[in-house]
Formats: sequence, structure tokens, C-alpha cells
Amino acid sequence: MKDGVLRTTCGICQIGCGALVHFTNGRPIKIEGDPLHPLNKGKLCQKGYASLEYLYHPKRITKPLKRVGARGQGKWMPVGWDEALNIIADKFIEHKKTFGPESVAFIRGAAKGLQDSYLTRFANAFGSPNITSMAYVCFIPRYAASMITYGFYAIPDLDYPPKTIIVWGANISDTLFHVYERLCNAVRRGAVLIVVDPGSNRVTREASMVLKPKPTTDLHLILAMLHVIIKEGLYDKNFVEQYTTGFRELANHVSAYTPEQVSEVTWIPADTIVHLARVYALNKPSAIQWGNGIDHTPDNFQTARAICILRAITGNIGIPGGDVQWTNPALIERGSVAFSLHDHIPPEVRAKRITKGNALLPNQFYALPQALIEAMITGVPYPIKSCYIQGCNPLLTYPNPRKVCKALEAVDFLTVSDMFMTPTASLADIVLPVATYLEFDSIVNAPYSLAVTSIQQKATRVGECRSDYEILKGLADRLGLANIFWPTEEECLDFILSPSNITFAQFRDIAVLEGRKLYRDDVHNTFPTPSGKVELYSTRLESWGFAPLPKPTTEIEVNNINET
Ligand code: SF4
Repeated sequence: MKDGVLRTTCGICQIGCGALVHFTNGRPIKIEGDPLHPLNKGKLCQKGYASLEYLYHPKRITKPLKRVGARGQGKWMPVGWDEALNIIADKFIEHKKTFGPESVAFIRGAAKGLQDSYLTRFANAFGSPNITSMAYVCFIPRYAASMITYGFYAIPDLDYPPKTIIVWGANISDTLFHVYERLCNAVRRGAVLIVVDPGSNRVTREASMVLKPKPTTDLHLILAMLHVIIKEGLYDKNFVEQYTTGFRELANHVSAYTPEQVSEVTWIPADTIVHLARVYALNKPSAIQWGNGIDHTPDNFQTARAICILRAITGNIGIPGGDVQWTNPALIERGSVAFSLHDHIPPEVRAKRITKGNALLPNQFYALPQALIEAMITGVPYPIKSCYIQGCNPLLTYPNPRKVCKALEAVDFLTVSDMFMTPTASLADIVLPVATYLEFDSIVNAPYSLAVTSIQQKATRVGECRSDYEILKGLADRLGLANIFWPTEEECLDFILSPSNITFAQFRDIAVLEGRKLYRDDVHNTFPTPSGKVELYSTRLESWGFAPLPKPTTEIEVNNINET
């Protein structure tokens, strides 16, 4: 585009705010929020407004680099794309042949939407079960708990609005600004705001009640709320009877978690716990806006399960002003077999996935990062010879950087695709210059609030940077996997849009597809679980060797209190 405005979606984080890129003489010169976008309605956060600084940052890597000095010494030689991709492909072939496909590991970050999923597709087609990400501490524990309990990811119906809102472990004033605005509107319209968070932020300052539990004890607190709600008969009896399984087992289970006992563990006074439970259960409709704070607790999955159960037994799931389901626009889902090619890995190879014990649900296809780091250092249970890192800086983001450094130095061959020479990239054998969101077309499906799918359009291209799609296709072509990617990225996007019967070219004009809220009556009062009900007691979890009811790993503390 020479002069004018291009409609796109910010890709710096996964919120998916609509943005307008202004051009002068063919160069993007300004970015602002898209006033027509249903999520952000014309605003961007500071990161979004800084997009062009990020795009044109003088420290961006703009050519493929090959290490020429000792690892980490910082000596590089620019090479062409063919040479860089040939070197990587040769190493992958050598290691696969000698040590098996599992010896090639993949580490990915987040915030790149479909580009993240292309790496999953590539790893599965290549045959390695060892792909890892931050999923285990970011969103997936809450998502998995929701799917297990009632079969969908529920979102607070803030616009109705609720009468009570609990913000639990979520600093939305800094991380989800459009949700924060909707929350403030709900409070202006009379909603009681309660915050559970050991820290302080703008949301805690606006709340009428703030609870600061001892970190890691959130699950105890929720179990005590369930105890009060069941003991005092504050639950929704009709809902429980008609739409749940395992209520009796739940009641027995939470009977041990009295407010007095849990108060000792959580540092929250017993009468405050009772008050919280009563307000949430009685001042309906109530909604819970949760966040990554839940995912960062040791009992993240079971804590999320307990919140799902709390929503359900109080009848707040699927009602106006409660926590509701949204239909997504029709797309090929990123996690589906059709897209991720999980079925390309035979069960015997899948069984080799590196995890510590049985710490992940069987339907999660990721290896645990810590276990992978351990295997890279020790060679146990088998050697990890190559590692491909996309959009991730484990030296900064993983725990124990010394250990991570040792692991990255231990692999025979390390590739990093990134925009900048991060500490992790500085240890690589090959560094690939990757495109920012302003340099390739894509489809953004925001997962965290309102079901909105929007257009991402290429505005420009810096240096020799390529999108991850283009990089992975180049590698796939060299590995005999040419058929797993489409000839062009746009044809892949056509495939993803195919359930909506539109092409990406047509989507450029439409720009936004919206889902819609599904209240309980809309789905004929059944839930997409094996039993068709909300599964308070999960026989699936039990059959996989996990606790069927949410149980803290710090259970011993409650038992000890019982004894004294
Ligand atoms: S919240 Fe995320 S998507 Fe929205 S402007 Fe900020 S970085 Fe971009």
C-alpha cells in the first residue's frame, strides 16, 4: 500500500486487538486502535502503540546467521536462507536417523497465534513427540479443567452485568484492558467487586472486598467456600439435581475443609471465608474472572477445577450475568487433529514423550519443559541432539537459568528463530530472522474473552525476515515433508477459513467474524461432556490416575490441623 490505512490485528500478545496501520509513501508511519473492532474499540495498550518501534528496531536480526566462534562467543556470519535451512535439515536428518525422531526437540513460546501451531504441525509430521511450551503454566490448566468439568471454556458475562464479580488471580487492569473496561462498567452499574490476589493493582483498589490468601493456598480457600455453600444449603438445588454428577462425593470431600481449618492455611479469617461464600452464592448472578495467577499455583489444574465446580453448583454457569459459553466462528481449530496432525505420531513414539512421571493429562500433547531441560543435560531417558526454539527465550523465562544454559550448551545443534539476539539465541548454531506480526498475513482467534476472529495483514517486510510458516515450509520441503504445508501461506489460511465458506481474500474485506453467547437454554441444558452433565466428580480423571475431586497437594497441612 502506498498511502492509506490497512486494517489488521495486533499480534504482540494473544488478546487480538484490532489495529489500523497508516501508510505514507508505502511505509507504515503510525498505528492506532481500530474503532470498529469489537474487543478494543479503538484503543491499544502501550505495547500495541509501540508496534512500529518494534518493527523497525535497529537491533532486529534481518539475515540468517551462522555461528563461527565458540558457542555463546557472539561471532556470527550472515548466510543465505538456502544455506541456513540446508544446515538445519541435514542435522535433523542425521539425528533422526541415528537417534530417532524423539532426539529432535522443539520449544515454542506464545503470542504468535497460528505461527505457534505451525510448529506443532511440523513437529508431529517430523515424528517427534518432544514439543514443549509454557502451556502448563499459562491458560491450559484452566482450559483443561473447564473441558473436563463442563465441556467448554466459560467467560464472565460482564456486559449483562453480574451482581457479584470475583476477580481471582488476574491483573486485568494491566493485561486485559478491554475486559477491565467492561468490568468497570459492570461495577458502575452496581456489581459488587471482590478480588482474590496477594498483590495490588488498580482492580484491587476498586474492589469492595480484597482477600490476600497465602500464595499457593487458593484451592484450600475454594474448597472452604464449597464447604460453606453446601453446609448452609446455598447451592442451586435444581441445577445440581438435574445437571451434575458426583454431588454427594463432592459434599463428603469438602466436609473436611471447614473455614476455621482453612483459615490457618490461607491466612484468611474464617468469618471472611463464610462471607465470601455467602455473597458469591446468594448475590446472583455471579461471575468469576480468573487469570494466570491460577495457572501459577502448584495445584493449578485442580484449583481451576474447584472454581468450575463453584460456578456450577451455585447455578452460575450458562446464565445471563454468570459465566457463559461462546460459540466460535467456524474455523479449522488449531488444536484439531486436522491441523495439528497429532495422529502422525505412532503410539509407541508418542509414549516416548519426555514428561516427569504422569504429570500431564493424556490429551495434552506437550512435554514438560523442566523434564526436557533435564534430558538435554543428562541424556536420560535418551539423548536430545537437536533443539529448535521458536519465539521463546528460555534463558529468561524458564526457572533456573544456569541449568537451562547448561542444557542448551549440551545439545549438539541448536536453532533459534527470533526477532532479536536474545540470550537464548546467542547460544545457537543458526539464528533465523523472523517476521513480526506486521510482516505476514494471518487469522487471529482471541481465546480469552468474547469469541472474535480477526484479520492480520502484511503491512511491510524488513530485511530478509520470513514468517515462521515460510521458515517451517522451507525446512519441511528439505525433509521430504513438502505435502504438510500448502504452497503459499494464504492457501493455508483458506483451509483454516473453509468451514466459514470464505477465502482469506474475502476475509480481507470482512475483517472480523464474531461468535455469540450461548445461555443455558440455548444449548437445551446439556453439557458437552461424556455424561452430558457437569462432572463434579470426574471418572475420567480417576481412570487416568488423577484425583477425581480437587485435592490440594498440600493436603497434609489440613490433616495436621485436624489432629491438633
Ligand atoms: S493488549 Fe495485546 S493485542 Fe492488544 S494492543 Fe496490547 S499487545 Fe496488542
